[in-house]
Amino acid sequence: LIKKQPAPIELLSAQLANQIAAGEVVERPASVVKELLENSLDAGASQVSLEAEQGGVKRIRIRDDGCGIAQEDLALALSRHATSKIKVLDDLEAVLSLGFRGEALASISSVARLTLTSRPEGQDSAWSVKAEGRDMEPILMPAAHPVGTTVEVGDLFFNTPARRKFLKTEKTEFGHLEEVVRRLALSRFDVGFSLTHNAKSLYQLKPATTDFEREKRLATLLGPAFIEHALVMDMAAESSGLRLYGWVTQPTHSRSQPDQQYFFVNGRIIRDKVVNHAVRQAYQDVLYGGRHPAFVLFFELDPAWVDVNVHPTKHEVRFRESRLVHDFIFRSLHRVIADMRPDGQAQISS
Ligand code: ADP
Ligand code: MG
Repeated sequence: LIKKQPAPIELLSAQLANQIAAGEVVERPASVVKELLENSLDAGASQVSLEAEQGGVKRIRIRDDGCGIAQEDLALALSRHATSKIKVLDDLEAVLSLGFRGEALASISSVARLTLTSRPEGQDSAWSVKAEGRDMEPILMPAAHPVGTTVEVGDLFFNTPARRKFLKTEKTEFGHLEEVVRRLALSRFDVGFSLTHNAKSLYQLKPATTDFEREKRLATLLGPAFIEHALVMDMAAESSGLRLYGWVTQPTHSRSQPDQQYFFVNGRIIRDKVVNHAVRQAYQDVLYGGRHPAFVLFFELDPAWVDVNVHPTKHEVRFRESRLVHDFIFRSLHRVIADMRPDGQAQISS
């Protein structure tokens, strides 16, 4: 038996480190769109427009009217671990921005051709920086752009053929992309969103501030049947500061798939076992097995009570008081559902 000799240890190049990190956050065009839209929302945009070509594989262009990026920060924005959103560990305890890891732009630019163009308020002109998956200093160029930011991402995975092979048909990829936009458009009624695919405009959602406008957006994104069967709810527990509000559909509008279940925790969409269990339990007496309710729900709690740094995509969270959270969600929904029942028989256990 020949003993294995140790190979020399070397630091990965920035490019390779970014590509490895990209494996966690950039799976398909939809993940690029998620990261870029979240950046636009974090930048305080009131209008975001998205154009995609060929399911987003060929091209994704996102333009916002947010705070922009200063010329001297443009190149830095593309490096790994570069963020304007947190500075010290304590900030993580109360993070309210959607991003904070400083990885998205670095990851995306390591596996696609990325152009970032931006202009902050008070800067005379816009500047642009390009990165094409190469290990080189990004080049700055003057550009024409109003206050805000445009990110263009082309030829996703052009330099990582193994990843490209995992992409599905244009239709499937666009379906995922559209779902990401839908989630974010549901999370921020106060922001306008427009979506264009292969030069065809799919929708232009104006900022919605009145109930009527919000319902119109729900009908556009989830179909008119959702809003016809949905009830508005708003429950708060003063002692714990928990609040659950939004729209839940009556049992008569149950679905065969859990495909219209949007649950936002402090504005961030999540999937969580505790939440799922509480919802299922609340509906269990009024829905047949195999049927699923539809809802768009916003859950608010002290940010220190929830850990969002569980997974790079931040789809998972950890609640500090999960029992309390579970019971509050269950009880709130149970009460709303009981009120919906024509016989009014359901009892609220407290
Ligand atoms: P993160 O969002 O975790 O901070 P990103 O790689 O997504 O990391 O972005 C890096 C930085 O670039 C952000 O912290 C922000 O300062 C800046 N940035 C990115 N996109 C935008 C945008 N659309 N508008 C303004 N600033 C942006
Ligand atoms: Mg980000």
